[in-house]
Formats: sequence, structure tokens, C-alpha cells
Amino acid sequence: MAFAPQQAILALGDGFYDPVTPATFPQTILRYRNDRAAASVGLEGLSDAEWIAHFGRFEPLPGSLPQPLALRYHGHQFRVYNPEIGDGRGFLFAQMTDTGGRLMDLGTKGSGRTPYSRFGDGRLTLKGGVREILATEMLEALGVETSRTFSLIETGESLHRGDEPSPTRSSVLVRLNHGHIRIGVFQRLAYFQDEDGLRTLTAYVLRHYFGEPDGPDAPQRLLAHVVARTARMAAQFMAAGFVHGVLNSDNINVTGESFDYGPWRFTPSWAPHFIAAYFDQNGLYAFGRQPEAIYWDVMQLAISLRLIAEEAPLIEALEGFAPAYQQGEAEAILWRLGVQPRDAASDRTLTEALEKALHQSGVPLDLFYFNAFGGQLSDQFGSEFDEVRSRLSDYRPRKARDHAYWQGSPCGMHIDEVESLWSAIADRDDWAPLSAKISAIRRMGEALA
Ligand code: AMP
Ligand code: MG
Repeated sequence: MAFAPQQAILALGDGFYDPVTPATFPQTILRYRNDRAAASVGLEGLSDAEWIAHFGRFEPLPGSLPQPLALRYHGHQFRVYNPEIGDGRGFLFAQMTDTGGRLMDLGTKGSGRTPYSRFGDGRLTLKGGVREILATEMLEALGVETSRTFSLIETGESLHRGDEPSPTRSSVLVRLNHGHIRIGVFQRLAYFQDEDGLRTLTAYVLRHYFGEPDGPDAPQRLLAHVVARTARMAAQFMAAGFVHGVLNSDNINVTGESFDYGPWRFTPSWAPHFIAAYFDQNGLYAFGRQPEAIYWDVMQLAISLRLIAEEAPLIEALEGFAPAYQQGEAEAILWRLGVQPRDAASDRTLTEALEKALHQSGVPLDLFYFNAFGGQLSDQFGSEFDEVRSRLSDYRPRKARDHAYWQGSPCGMHIDEVESLWSAIADRDDWAPLSAKISAIRRMGEALA
């Protein structure tokens, strides 16, 4: 497919963003180019030199945005409203359509200071970039709707961070997202009582991300879509055993595509209190609280839309979250179990029994799902799994276990391994373990897909 540039965002008007200038980096060393993602938007044919010119020096892509735009947004961070955020170390670099006809964005992380940088340096550590590659590759393989890490370029600066041994190496990352409209973009407009802005943005999102026209009921239709998508995202996190870590309303994309990976972790077992971010002492975003946290964020969207809509239809839309979550969880778990869905009631019963058994037994999730794929759970899982085992036997596999992945051992992504992949780079500049891991993740992805 040929590159199909877009500039849809410009129609929103300049109250939604600030044109910015990218940082100039002392070095641009290409560390990761995602040709699979590039092929989805017709950019796989770029030479490495062209790639670096666009994704390290941010020379515009022909026909797309003439200049990078720092997007304006607010948001609740750990439930405290912050009107001072916005794209502080990133910008929207380009828009285009993908092979599926979807409007996509290339956005950056670590590309320099903007009007929203506050006390920050506008930079991304190399370790932060490597961690975002690992999170996105793993989530994609596990069937989670996620942004793709498109490019990572090392930039040759020394950064100081409280949570990494410093000085530490720098990088600039480009991600491919299905839009960058966060709940916080709506919250900012509501904060300024900008009803026209809210109507314009609602129509933009409905048109470009949900394929629907504007109309008097636009706000509630929009909210219903966001409810459905974000509930599915929450469900997919739970099936993947993923803990995002920072589910603030500025990190929630209205398309329900997960993105912005900082202190994420995968939970080793079904442990509701498992926490990813060291600064989340109260466990607000712990593994088991993620659906509730995401719902809380979506409620903030409803509150913002209240300026341009009646309360009753918004509440009705919000009430869709719990059923959408339950259905999404069953779908995501059955998918990971490698079996075909039956009827909603049986699927729900199986999911509940499974959650209970996983929680009580504390078995490693990777091992469990690896063993159970296709529906035949081995005896190594004890009596806590009796109900799961018998219910599963009514299910048919959705895929044969004939991929070579099933002859080996489960591919996980736990903190010790993440740290050791990083150490190889930090200590010896050895990138081989990272590429081997990416290949292993993609093999698992093929086995599951
Ligand atoms: P995050 O927690 O990554 O979602 O970021 C929250 C806010 O802080 C956003 O407005 C970011 O752009 C901003 N931010 C995070 N790190 C930096 C940095 N190093 N320099 C400037 N802004 C930053
Ligand atoms: Mg963020």
C-alpha cells in the first residue's frame, strides 16, 4: 500500500494544539524500526537514512502535517485535576490512513520541550523507550488493542532521573496510534466552559473514529462508544495479566486503544493487589482495580459532556460499562484459552470459575494459559481447577496446537527479565537479547493469532 497522508486534525482549529519545534539531537542511532507497523501505513519502503530523517529529525512526511503539533489537554492524575499538563515531551507528527482505512497518528515521546513541559526536559530515557517496545510487542501478541511502537532512536544525551541510575542514555520514540484524543482533551474544554469546542471535538471523534455523523444526540453516542471500547480495553488488560500503572484520564484514548507505557508490569499471578508503579502506594491502579479506574476516567468524560448534553442519556451510556466489561472479559479470556465461545451465560460462568481458581491457587498465569490453550488443562493444576477443567471440556479449540511455540515454554514478560534485557544494553551495549526477545514474542503472537 502507498503512504496515504492525512491532516484531519487541522480541521479542529488552532485552539486544540500548538505548533512546536523538535529538539536537535547530538546523535541519531536507529535502535528499532517496526517494519510490520510501517507496512500497515505504507512506510516500510523507507531506507534507514530516510527513516532517521523522519523519526529522529522529524522532517515532515509529504502531504501530512507541515509542522509538529503539541496537543492541548488536562486530566486527573491519581484523581487530582491537573490543568497544567498537555504534550510536554511529545507531539503529533503525522496523520495517515492505514491498510484498514483507519485514521492513524504518528506521535512522539522524548522529542523535546513544548509549552507544556513545565519542569521537565522533554526527553525520554533509552530504558523508557526499550520498556515501551517490550510492553507494546507483548500486548499486541496477547491480543490487546494497543498502540504500536514504531521507531526508537538513541539520541546521545545524558539524562538525570530520580528512578533510574543517572546519568542515563536518551532516546526518541515514535508510536503509531489510532488517534491521540484523550479523555483529558474533553476535560480541558469543559474546564474552560468551551461548549463550541466540545461540540466540534465530539463531531470530529464520531466522524473519524466511529464513522458516524454529527447530530443532536452526538454526545451520548460518543460516550456509548467510548464506554464500549474502554471496557473492552480493561477486559483485555485482565486477560493479559497486564498492569498499566498510570491510568490517569490523560492516558485514556477515546478509541479504547491502550497507550503510554511508563511503569507497567505484568502480574505473575492473578493477584488483585499487584502494583506496577512504585509511586502508586495506595494501589489505586493495582491489577484488580483497573476496570474501576478506567470506569472512573470515563465518568470524567461524561461529566465534561454534561455541558452539551442532558444527564439521563449520559447516565444510560455509562451503565453500559459493566456489561461490556463482562462480555469483553469472557471474550478475551476464551481467546487466550484458545477455545471458541459458546453462549454468553456459559462463557461467563467459565470466566468466573477461572478467575476464582487463578486467584485462590496463585499459579503463574503464563504457565496456566500455555498449558490450557485449546481447552485441555493438565493435572498439574490442582483441585482448585476442577470446575474450570470440567467446564472447559465442553469447549472446542479455536486453533490447533501445531505451532512450534507449543513445543517450548511460555513466553512471559516479568520484571527480572525486563531488567536483564536492559542490563545487556546498559552494561555491554548488547542489543541481541532484546531482538531475540522480540522474535520470541512475535512467535507467541503467531501461535495465538
Ligand atoms: P505521563 O505520566 O507520562 O503520562 O506524563 C504526564 C505529563 O507529564 C504529560 O503532560 C507529559 O508530557 C509530562 N512529562 C512527563 N515527562 C516529562 C519530561 N521528561 N519532560 C516534560 N514533560 C514531561
Ligand atoms: Mg501520558
